[in-house]
Amino acid sequence: MNIQKLLNDTLDNSADSYKSGHVATYIPALGKVDPTLLGITYYDLKNNLVYSAGNDCTPFAIESISKVPVLLLALEENGLKNVFQHVDEEPTGFSFNSILNMEINKRHYPMNPFVNTGAIVVNSLIPGKDSAERFDRILNFMKEICNDPDLTLNEEIYHSESQTGNMNRSLAYYMKANDMFKGDVEDILDSYFKQCSVNVTTKDLANLAALLANGGIAPWNNQRILREENATVVKSIMVTAGLYDQSGDFSSHVGVPSKSGVGGGLISAIPQKAGIGVFGPALDKEGNSVAGIKALNFLVKKLNLNIFE
Ligand code: GLU
Repeated sequence: MNIQKLLNDTLDNSADSYKSGHVATYIPALGKVDPTLLGITYYDLKNNLVYSAGNDCTPFAIESISKVPVLLLALEENGLKNVFQHVDEEPTGFSFNSILNMEINKRHYPMNPFVNTGAIVVNSLIPGKDSAERFDRILNFMKEICNDPDLTLNEEIYHSESQTGNMNRSLAYYMKANDMFKGDVEDILDSYFKQCSVNVTTKDLANLAALLANGGIAPWNNQRILREENATVVKSIMVTAGLYDQSGDFSSHVGVPSKSGVGGGLISAIPQKAGIGVFGPALDKEGNSVAGIKALNFLVKKLNLNIFE
């Protein structure tokens, strides 16, 4: 199979689908991104080769995909048992920024680490005396697991998130009032806004996905970065909650552990086979990249990567 040709065909097949989506505008700086951009990187674990096509070097905001690295860091620092005392591992059936499920179920902690409530709690579990220290740790860890020493904070997106993040503020204050995390609310929110505003490319995301797919051993140098059990748990939550309330549909029809972000990124980690990073900023109504999902669906079918088959 000529994978490079397949990636080019994948992009040709998906290029027009941005027309049925819209870039996110609730974070104003995201609204400026060109909706026609499309890039993909495929890390083939079997042959340890990386293939890439389209806008694979264009930096974009990692947004909710950051919930994967920050959960991994919290797990590495605190262990599985301690982290999952503060956040559950269940799909919500509600949108990523919903407060509803917490009130209805009278929960003592958020339902999973990939909705905003859960991600804010997970951010509070990163060791550090303040936002600057926590974010420094997060950024260094992201550099390591994406194998990219040049990752940086996108200041424009960060300021835009921080200025308009009132929904996240309400979620965080609600949780603070119910004693769901330790630390100062605004300080935790600040490092949460920063984690979402790191610039990445599809090449960075394919490396992160390949590390997860490879059970926590970096395929580019054979060094173990993550405990295997942490990589396993995170992939399983990606199956049940990685694509907002489209997670069930995506798992049934595409069938690869994935996580999306409102910046238009998508990662897929296919155990022992491949890591994939995709970028297409126009989103569907659930907040997932329209072209990204179409591209993944096409590629997964051509390469028989569905983990449930
Ligand atoms: N920073 C975004 C927010 O908190 C992330 C959302 C997302 O990518 O789903 O609203």
